[in-house]
Amino acid sequence: MSTARTNIDFDRSGKQTGFIDIAHSPHEDAWGATRIPIAVIRNGSGPTAILQGGNHGDEYEGPITLGELIRDLDPGRVEGRIIFLPAINTPAVLAGRRTSPVDGLNLNRTFPGNSRGTITQQISAYVSEVIFPLGDAYLDLHSGGSSLMILPSAIIDPAPTPEHHRRNVAAAFAFDAPLTVVIDNLGEPRTSTAAAVRAGLTTVGTEMAGAGTVTIEALDICRKGVRNVLGHLGILPEAAKPPESKERKLLRIPGSEGFVLATVNGVFEPFHALGAEVHAGEAAGRIHNLADPARAPETLHYAADGIVYGRRQPGRVVAGNCCVTVAGKYEGELG
Ligand code: CA
Repeated sequence: MSTARTNIDFDRSGKQTGFIDIAHSPHEDAWGATRIPIAVIRNGSGPTAILQGGNHGDEYEGPITLGELIRDLDPGRVEGRIIFLPAINTPAVLAGRRTSPVDGLNLNRTFPGNSRGTITQQISAYVSEVIFPLGDAYLDLHSGGSSLMILPSAIIDPAPTPEHHRRNVAAAFAFDAPLTVVIDNLGEPRTSTAAAVRAGLTTVGTEMAGAGTVTIEALDICRKGVRNVLGHLGILPEAAKPPESKERKLLRIPGSEGFVLATVNGVFEPFHALGAEVHAGEAAGRIHNLADPARAPETLHYAADGIVYGRRQPGRVVAGNCCVTVAGKYEGELG
């Protein structure tokens, strides 16, 4: 069991803010702790939503949105319970980095975690072992991080049963982002959303622009989206909307062919803007060797039909970097 502890009483009504303290004993601080902010708003009876930001420390729309809700939301408007984890990988958030400066780990590749592991592994273990069992629904708010700019979208993780898939699709559509995309991260089981799905939670992810900055439009989508999902779950009745009549399209990243990776080191020149329609076999861009201008650039090609969904932000690339991501049509059940 974890040595992590919190001053929050998850059963108490009203609004509480506090911390999860995970014992940490570096050179500078023998008996101290890594403090992770947490807030709980509980009122009446209703389901529990877990709202998380800061899984990656350089993605800001989610943490900003959750901070506003923690400060502004009147518990009397809530029917149920909201558990806020707005900066879950606090060391990474404080450093403005995707990965933790403490142990170098990407929290979103450590689930279900290890309560006897490094700080990042202990954080994911706490979420898996203590937080997930309290929840009915889970919202993990991401953006593209420093290296990617991604079209603002709600994300669906594949679920093991049609009933669970329908719940995830309905909650992701309720978020009402301009796009809804099924992403399985190439079957990666160590993400927090994959772990939340395994725990049976109704699960929604997001990608809210990125590039290590705060995007005005994406922040607006995120603010509305979180309230929309709380309305959909019945936890924030004032945000509930009548059933949708509008036609919804689901996209999906088709697998490894959805990712265009750099083949050599250099500077990537993209050929298409985000949202452009592209086709398998078409040139996606080229990589220039600026120190050897006589050498012809390397041309990269798309391997799937779809739209340009995400693009690398820094110009410089090394072989293996993700330059472009394509999202195609989703052919499965809409739910
Ligand atoms: Ca992310």
